[in-house]
Amino acid sequence: DSFFVGGVSVKTIALANQKGGVGKTTTAASLASGLSRQGKKVLLVDADAQGNLTQMLGWAQPDELSPTLADLMGKIITDQLVSPGEGILHHDSGVDLLPANIELSALEVTLVNAMSRETVMRQLLSTVQDRYDYALIDCMPSLGMMTLNALSAADSVIIPVQAHYLPAKGLEQLLRTVARVKRQLNPKLEIDGIVLTMVDGRTTLAKGISEQIRQAYAGRVFASEIPRSIRAAEVSVENKSIYDLDRNGKAAQAYINIYYRSMLGGFFLWSAIQPK
Ligand code: ADP
Ligand code: MG
Repeated sequence: DSFFVGGVSVKTIALANQKGGVGKTTTAASLASGLSRQGKKVLLVDADAQGNLTQMLGWAQPDELSPTLADLMGKIITDQLVSPGEGILHHDSGVDLLPANIELSALEVTLVNAMSRETVMRQLLSTVQDRYDYALIDCMPSLGMMTLNALSAADSVIIPVQAHYLPAKGLEQLLRTVARVKRQLNPKLEIDGIVLTMVDGRTTLAKGISEQIRQAYAGRVFASEIPRSIRAAEVSVENKSIYDLDRNGKAAQAYINIYYRSMLGGFFLWSAIQPK
């Protein structure tokens, strides 16, 4: 029900994993630019005080931006009116961004004593939900208040996991948190899936690890794996999408597979991806 054009039923997806460096931000940016190329209206929400996603999209000095997510969530906390679209930046690629900077750390502390503290982001995003087909929330590497807010605002969660090490306890803890948010705060929350990222397909070690993860989380791991690739790494510094950098490469193709499977609800049709 969420993939019809028109934006009346935005699908909100949180990219979450309390471990840093697993590919959350790269995945958020890559899925967003892919969806945007499909004509979908996409809002990226940078929910990490490091502002990596904001920088990745070309706003090199997040700390100079105002208002940011922190300001707008602060307004909700203090019961001030947020005008629809306030603070949203427009990227050349057609993707919109709610930026973040270091002020989000202070805001997270303020949240602890706020009324309805887990649903502040949900309230904020509800002011723009009729404008987008997708909202992708790039979470910070923790299971703190900001991530709880993202999970409370989301319809589903995508969990990037670096296929280099066995994720073991961290992933279990994240899945328990998702289940708890679903029970207590957001009954509609689903897990879209685990994405294996930075897979070095040539080594038997990597193959072994991805097999073990697939066995442990049967049915919840996307078939497509994101290979370790220089191009994918360049997304974070070049202000270019994976499709601009390496349209026919394996990483771009894997991201396309993932959004077809989880978001557009359709079959994979490579030829449908037209360059802009
Ligand atoms: P997170 O948001 O979980 O901290 P990032 O998306 O920032 O993770 O990725 C961590 C680092 O790994 C970044 O330097 C990024 O450029 C790099 N990276 C991400 N995906 C890939 C990939 N598929 N291949 C190689 N490097 C990658
Ligand atoms: Mg990140």
